[in-house]
Amino acid sequence: MPVEREKLEADVLIVGAGPAGLACALRLSQLIEQNSAGGNPPAISAENIYVLEKARELGAHQLSGAIMDPCALRELVQDFEKTAPLDTPVTGDAAYFLSETGSWKLPITPPPLQNHGNYVVSLNRLTKWLGGLVEKAGVNVFTQFAGASLIYEGKGIAGVITEDKGVDKNGKPKDNFTPGYELRSKITVLAEGPRGSLTKNLVNQLHLDGLNPQVYGIGIKELWDVQPGKIETGYVAHTLGWPLDSHKYGGGWIYGLSDNRVSLGMVVGLEYKDSLFDPHEAFQKFKTHPFVRKILEGGKLVRYGAKTVPYGGWHSMPQSYVDGGLIIGDSASLLNSQRLKGIHTAIKSGMLAAEAIYEALAAGNTSANALSAYQKKLEASWIRKELWEVRNFHQGFHDGLWPGLFNAGLQFVSGGRGLTDPARCRPGYQDFRRLDRPRELVDQSTRFKGDGTLTFNRLTDVYHSGTRHEEDQPCHLVVSDPSICADRCVREYGNPCQYYCPAAVYEMVLETGQPKLKINASNCVHCKTCDIADPYQIVNWVPPEGGGGPNYEGM
Ligand code: SF4
Repeated sequence: MPVEREKLEADVLIVGAGPAGLACALRLSQLIEQNSAGGNPPAISAENIYVLEKARELGAHQLSGAIMDPCALRELVQDFEKTAPLDTPVTGDAAYFLSETGSWKLPITPPPLQNHGNYVVSLNRLTKWLGGLVEKAGVNVFTQFAGASLIYEGKGIAGVITEDKGVDKNGKPKDNFTPGYELRSKITVLAEGPRGSLTKNLVNQLHLDGLNPQVYGIGIKELWDVQPGKIETGYVAHTLGWPLDSHKYGGGWIYGLSDNRVSLGMVVGLEYKDSLFDPHEAFQKFKTHPFVRKILEGGKLVRYGAKTVPYGGWHSMPQSYVDGGLIIGDSASLLNSQRLKGIHTAIKSGMLAAEAIYEALAAGNTSANALSAYQKKLEASWIRKELWEVRNFHQGFHDGLWPGLFNAGLQFVSGGRGLTDPARCRPGYQDFRRLDRPRELVDQSTRFKGDGTLTFNRLTDVYHSGTRHEEDQPCHLVVSDPSICADRCVREYGNPCQYYCPAAVYEMVLETGQPKLKINASNCVHCKTCDIADPYQIVNWVPPEGGGGPNYEGM
């Protein structure tokens, strides 16, 4: 039976309260204020701007390395240093190559990894602070609401339907059932971060793909409290090499935060060939390297998280404007994969989107043609210059570390051109190699356990992510044909979901002698890896009931 939904109307609806979405909202409020102060009747009012965020509170789903280049934040909030929660300025940086037991410091830190003038931040805290400014400006911010589906109209979009609340695991309404809202808006901005579920749908429905498909990495991170004197506050180290072999793209990081806290993690490109590779286990091994171990010894794990990173860059940018809609930030492929930075480009893209939106609403024209001003603004800004110079960077590593470094050197001297321009790529899941022979189902109790002090199994880490979901709700990991998991994937790839998921969500179990996929959905940390890396593309991550998911406090 069709559900009757309450309808609300907004001028601008922003889905996702990360740096891009909040910067868009804040810049819009500034434009309203500037126009009012200049005696021009503003095109919109702040109360008619809505921001939706699926997390239980602002910042709870925000995870990043995170070193921030403050250039965009300085444009948005000129005196940000006075009030923004910046953990520490970067005081020194280094790059190391690791073998299993040795470490070699590169004689100079490669320019993209030099961080003088940047800040190590907690993206969780930064987002909370930015959200506070947005709320103070009168914008309506709704946490615990996810955009479940887009409202398509004509050749574009006209808002979103939020998720129904109070539905049981069989899809039946519970006593507390509340239908989702029909939020109609003149302009809907998708700021969902990497692999947003609405963005994925929009790009597929309206064929908005860029030159290349989007390619991703998985980033796994822990926060530790360490003994005093183990690492200097503001010290930043990046590593290449062990435990990743030269066929895998990625590396590690260790950042010294204030109060003897350390951020460390590892990113791995989701285009590796070995379908049984386990990124979480590789990260745990990374911590056993003498270079890392000596920093962590005597310390304590505080928090854990995982998230995907869009590596594709300029050539993977989808068309970012449609009738009534824009795509910004990581959802629009604006991360600089060479510098491993995307907070500054996310903020700037939000600001540019706000300017295009304001002009469109002032002219009473929200068509794709009018909103293409956003794309023009991106191309005229420093974002284009920065991303154009690295447009072929990630693609160069497809054949391994050494060809990639060679290509990166060529790109450096040729303004980003390198060996081939544009360098093409394919979705990473197509790179999985089929198994030579079928394997037995893996007994989960034999999986990596960790020592419980320095290294941990995935469930212990999930505990430290603060993840919580309502248990009695439909599974938000929708597998369109589970028989493929049990019949084909088990033979052809050994069910890689059991390995790439950093939260132990997927398990193949035997039921009446037959393999069957078991999904522990409540562990999900919303990294989206399964939606991206599944070799048959039968996994669809949809938002669970709002408020569920990790709590990346301080991350
Ligand atoms: Fe990430 Fe998917 Fe695992 Fe959730 S189920 S943690 S989105 S890989």
